[in-house]
Amino acid sequence: MSLTIVLLFLVPLLATAGGQGEGEPASQNSDSPSTDTSDEAVLPPTLTYQQTPEVDVREDGEFRIVATTTQAGDITRILTAEVDDLVMTPLMGAGVDPHLYKPTEADISAMNRADLIVYSGLHLEGQFDRVLQALGERDTVIYALASPVKRQGFIIGSFDESGGRGSDDPHFWFDPRNWQVTVRDYAELLSETDPDNAAIYESNAEEYVGQLGLLYDWADMAMRSVPGTQRYLVTSHDGFQYFGAAFGWRMAAIQGISTEDEAGVGDIQKTVDFVIENEIPVLFVESSIPPNTIEAVLEAIRAAGHETRVGVREMYGDAMGEVGAFGGTYVGMIATNVLTVIQSFQEADVDVTIPEWPAELSPAPPEALRTY
Ligand SMILES: [Zn+2]
Repeated sequence: MSLTIVLLFLVPLLATAGGQGEGEPASQNSDSPSTDTSDEAVLPPTLTYQQTPEVDVREDGEFRIVATTTQAGDITRILTAEVDDLVMTPLMGAGVDPHLYKPTEADISAMNRADLIVYSGLHLEGQFDRVLQALGERDTVIYALASPVKRQGFIIGSFDESGGRGSDDPHFWFDPRNWQVTVRDYAELLSETDPDNAAIYESNAEEYVGQLGLLYDWADMAMRSVPGTQRYLVTSHDGFQYFGAAFGWRMAAIQGISTEDEAGVGDIQKTVDFVIENEIPVLFVESSIPPNTIEAVLEAIRAAGHETRVGVREMYGDAMGEVGAFGGTYVGMIATNVLTVIQSFQEADVDVTIPEWPAELSPAPPEALRTY
């Protein structure tokens, strides 16, 4: 695939101004190119759970789940809390780039033993297609977290004008309202496959959907405190379309949707010109991507005599932090990114508001995140 996709901006940034209820992701209002809602283009039929065979997942007493990404591990941990004899094996660790991650032999043998495999979907896990396809032909339930969001039409098209295989942007989880859609649907799948524990899955989901609603409202208030003309999020790869769209921001990324494409010299120059032209004060680095492209941009901007800085800390891109840490939870990952954006703009003398953290929302940001 060529080095396409550079700075294309999702200009019509969505009339999502506050007040929208849960379950109505911003992408719904987008006039982005891909509104194709057929699953076919992105998920081979064997990979949607509706087509999976009737499986007795507790044939041997244990319910074994394998989760590919850090987000898949986190949502599974939350929805299955308090369920007995359930073993969850997460495959990717903190800071791992899922576009590039190749399943190891241990991963494949865990997947072979699993009753249920949960993955993100929309080709995020680019190296898993073949093994999932093979397992889909056996009695394994395979579930793409993206599938209910795709069915509801909330998937945004990619920046890729060539219309290549990246025509659906896979980073759907970055809008907490999309994640609510996934939580409900995944809980339903768990209830169907392990009916004895259905009441637990449903009550865990109910509780978590409420938490995500609080998170969205808090994040929205913070992100919208930056004046509209200054809401540009410049990052190294294109993982933040949904994050931006959720809160009325525009995006500029040096690299395209997948990190498999490397940024070229032309891409860097276009980014430099854009940043200077729009007087963008901050550029952001992602934890799962080497920082060299952003550094090249920054150097060129400074050489041209302009002042731009990098964010006060890295943002979580496609991978969350360590399990047990604040950034190792979905709530913590979103909150960290929001605080990083807002504090970085504050540092660049933009007037912002950081709203109080809702008392009922957990985990709460640690003290270290409140300062920078
Ligand atoms: Zn990505």
